[in-house]
Amino acid sequence: MAGKFKECLMLCCSRKPLQGEDHSNMAKDSYEDAIAGLKKLLSEKGELEVFAAAKINQLTAELEATADKPFNPVEKIKTGFAHFKKEKFEKNPALYGELAKGQSPKFLVFACSDSRVCPSHILDFQPGEAFIVRNIANMVPPYDQTKYSGVGAAIEYAVLHLKVENIVVIGHSCCGGIKGLMSIPDDGTTASDFIENWVKICLPAKAKVKAECGGLDFTEQCTNLEKEAVNISLGNLLTYPFVKEGAAKKTLSLKGGHYDFVKGSFELWSLDFGLSPSVFL
Ligand SMILES: [Zn+2]
Repeated sequence: MAGKFKECLMLCCSRKPLQGEDHSNMAKDSYEDAIAGLKKLLSEKGELEVFAAAKINQLTAELEATADKPFNPVEKIKTGFAHFKKEKFEKNPALYGELAKGQSPKFLVFACSDSRVCPSHILDFQPGEAFIVRNIANMVPPYDQTKYSGVGAAIEYAVLHLKVENIVVIGHSCCGGIKGLMSIPDDGTTASDFIENWVKICLPAKAKVKAECGGLDFTEQCTNLEKEAVNISLGNLLTYPFVKEGAAKKTLSLKGGHYDFVKGSFELWSLDFGLSPSVFL
C-alpha cells in the first residue's frame, strides 16, 4: 500500500466527529464496512491505489473544511429556504396556490417550544393543516384577558374565525418546563423572571401527581406530570366561552396527547364527557 494512502486512511480513522454526526453503532459499522470494502478492493486491484489516494485526500480536505467551519446562521436559513422552495413550494403549486387564498386548518395544536417536538414533523402536518401555539411546556392558561391575552387571541382566532374542529394539547417526554414545575419548592418561591410563574398554570396537576404518585422517583413523577398537565390544559380550554360552546355543540373536540421521543411513541386521548381511554400509536 502506498505510504500516502496509509496516511490518508489514518487521517480518516482519527478524524474528529462532525457536529450533529450520528454516533450510533450503525453509523460506525457502516464507516468501518466502507473502509474494509476499500481495503479489499485495493488488495485485489493494486493499480487503483493512486486513484484511491487522490480521492481520499479530497475527502479528508472536505471533512476538515466542514469540521472547521463556524456555524453560520444566515447560511443555514438561506440553504434551508432554498431547499424548501425547490423541493416543496415549487413542486406543489396547487397546494400553495390554494393556501395563497386562505387557510382552513382542522386543528389548533398546543405544543412545547422544545426543538425536538415540532408537531409538523412528528404528525406530518402540511402547510394549512394545523394552527399552532407553542410555549414552555405546552400549557393552556385559563381565560384571562390581561394576563394571558396572547394565548387567548390565538384560541379565539382559531375557534371563531378559522373554525377549527379539533384542539389538541401535546405534552412530551423529558420536558424541561415540567421538570421546572416539579422542582418548585413547596413554599412556592421562584428564582426565574417568567418560567416558573408560567408553568405554575399546571400546579393542580403537580398536586395530583404528588398525591397519587408520591412513591415514584422524580423522573417517573415528571412523566406523570407531563400527562396530567395536559389534562389541566384541556380543562382550562373550557374556561373560554367559545370553546365551551363548541364542545357542548360538538363542533369542537378536545384531545390530549403525549409524544415520547425516547421510545418513539405517541399516546392520544379525548376530553368529551370526561377523559376517554388512551390510544397508543
Ligand atoms: Zn417541553
